[in-house]
Amino acid sequence: MQNGRELTMSEKRAVPPKNILERVAKKNGVAVVVVDEKGSQEPAVNNNSICAVLNPDGVLVGRCARDCGRALERASDNNATISYTCHAGLLCRAARFESEGKPAVVIVGRAFTNSEGYRRAANRAMTGDWRDLPASRFFENILLLSSDAPLVDALRELTDESKKQETAKRPETSQAEEIARRAAAINERKPSGPDPADWRSFFGSLLGRDYISARNATIEFAAKQFLLRSLIWLERRGDRLESTAVSASLKGRSLNVGIELDDERLADAAAGENPVVLGKPPTKEVPDPKRILLFAMPVGDEIPAALVVLDKVPEDERRRAIARFCRSIAPQLEILRLRAEMERRAHLDEVSERLAEGIRELETDALWMHLAQVSAELLQAERASLMTRDEAAKSFRVRGSVGTTFDMQGDTEPGERVARIVFERGKPVVVRDVAITGLPPVDAERRYKTPSFLSAPIWLGERQLAVINFTDKVTGTPFDRRDLDLVKAIAPQLAAAIDRTQLKEKAGEFEQLSVTDPLTGLLNRRYMVQRLAEEVKRSNRHGYPMAFVMLDVDHFKSYNDTFGHPAGDEALKIVASVIRETLRDADVAVRFGGEEFAILLPQTTDSEAANIANRVRQNVAATEFPHRTVTISVGVASCSSEVCAQMDMISAADQALYRAKAEGRNRVWIYSPIDDDVPLKG
Ligand code: GH3
Ligand code: MG
Ligand code: MG
Repeated sequence: MQNGRELTMSEKRAVPPKNILERVAKKNGVAVVVVDEKGSQEPAVNNNSICAVLNPDGVLVGRCARDCGRALERASDNNATISYTCHAGLLCRAARFESEGKPAVVIVGRAFTNSEGYRRAANRAMTGDWRDLPASRFFENILLLSSDAPLVDALRELTDESKKQETAKRPETSQAEEIARRAAAINERKPSGPDPADWRSFFGSLLGRDYISARNATIEFAAKQFLLRSLIWLERRGDRLESTAVSASLKGRSLNVGIELDDERLADAAAGENPVVLGKPPTKEVPDPKRILLFAMPVGDEIPAALVVLDKVPEDERRRAIARFCRSIAPQLEILRLRAEMERRAHLDEVSERLAEGIRELETDALWMHLAQVSAELLQAERASLMTRDEAAKSFRVRGSVGTTFDMQGDTEPGERVARIVFERGKPVVVRDVAITGLPPVDAERRYKTPSFLSAPIWLGERQLAVINFTDKVTGTPFDRRDLDLVKAIAPQLAAAIDRTQLKEKAGEFEQLSVTDPLTGLLNRRYMVQRLAEEVKRSNRHGYPMAFVMLDVDHFKSYNDTFGHPAGDEALKIVASVIRETLRDADVAVRFGGEEFAILLPQTTDSEAANIANRVRQNVAATEFPHRTVTISVGVASCSSEVCAQMDMISAADQALYRAKAEGRNRVWIYSPIDDDVPLKG
């Protein structure tokens, strides 16, 4: 114990009431929990969320039962305060008290006292043995302190409270002790810098905030407590510290402060209690040059952030107080930053997954939309467009867009304002206010809500594939580097998806060419063979009926011989168009070769197929051809009977067609494996 005297068994301390436990926990930023002889704990006050998740029923289990669960036993052995770091890396301090006449232990702390411990826990929760625990609840209330002092204080305060209650029971005791205690507390205050209570309650308030708001609150708190006006917050980006936020008095001013992380002055300052002084040293000519102070915010041996003070701070003591403040607040903010980073990664993972899903499932047109949509959601942009460059036409093509109030596809020159510049430079731009860029003004009809936009090229290796544009952030705030980082994070996936989509489109074009019959515009035999195989499989799997029909122009040799080959071609085109017009959307007609055609009728019974075939035959016969009447013979095979292999379908239809010819032409014959005498007269 800090007051230097061991507690004897005769001095029994009663556990103070709940409201006192709460006050002490809150003031010191620690958890307070009472565990009885049986190892069961009272509901903890300000419990660390890690402890709550590890012991969901309030009963100490597993390794927690061995650590906090045995604290009473060990505190009894020592008969004094014990201190331990539990299996989860949390520092605890415990002492023996009494609860309703029975021995109990009061444990305070359950806090990380360095960010390394927290990082290890975060890793276990993200990818290690704790990854199946509910992550969102896990980080709800992480306690982090810069030293064990609040634990010592908390336990002492609880002991004092317990004594006070004893004193209250014995009114004859003088109040001298109480006055002395209060005086001691006042003397403890640091000579400059914030009041320790203010400080702690500020620390406590940070836990509930997100990183950005905690960072901004820290800047304002420092400004108020140390009487400063001009503060700049720096954060690590790669191997530099760069400005990311400023105090209110500097808002709207463009300031560019940066320092390399390997700058030796930084390491020196982080080790001691002094800021780095940036700027020229004083000379005879300029005895008081403009200089700025940089206070490192070290976490372990890293410096993830720093606070720059533009105000003059001549007093060493005030400089040291600011340095101490920065040092003690650093781990807290690092935790929040890590938490935000984890959430960001989880969000990115989710977006990546959705991107990937879309890529697997969607056809190319929908896919372009999907890429624009998922990207827009990621950046919380109301509008986004994805454009590709058509080098031959020297223009941009809008492939996918979200949130545009007018039809961007109808824009005569899309991308000419911004995308072209981004494309030519090959680098992204983040613009807070378009008015100060010198870019041509936007058409009023576009009605952008904010003057901010973000535009980035998408590269695949050395190739620049596309430009993606974002405007109108849902929050109404401008886009910033954080947004750009998000775009950069998904850019490789977007690039791969765009590349694949473009390949697919090209392949689609080739495929289209290779499966189309140039004379009639119908699909060709190659396509039919492929489709038929798929359709047969589907029918077999689901038990759908289907039919395959072969058609052949009657006496076509003589048509050619009489009217010439070009006239024959004309006649074939007419037959093709009659077939096309007679069929339903789902039916597939092809030119099977020469003057033979074939039709695939998915999910069609043999009698429906016979009707359709007959309608085609009738329509051809009724159509006026330039030279003479043209008729066709038709063979029908259906998959509802035993004929269910692809080649069998073709040969069955062919056999039926042969019978139709033999029976006198201009007729339909239905194949039947049992009884092949099934003519269908027109
Ligand atoms: P049927 O089928 O009624 O038994 O008699 P057919 O005269 O139609 O039979 P055959 O198979 O002997 O003749 C098919 C003719 O179709 C031969 C060929 O001149 C003609 N033909 C095939 N392909 C084309 C083409 O692309 N254009 C033209 N004009 N004629 C073609
Ligand atoms: Mg023929
Ligand atoms: Mg023929």
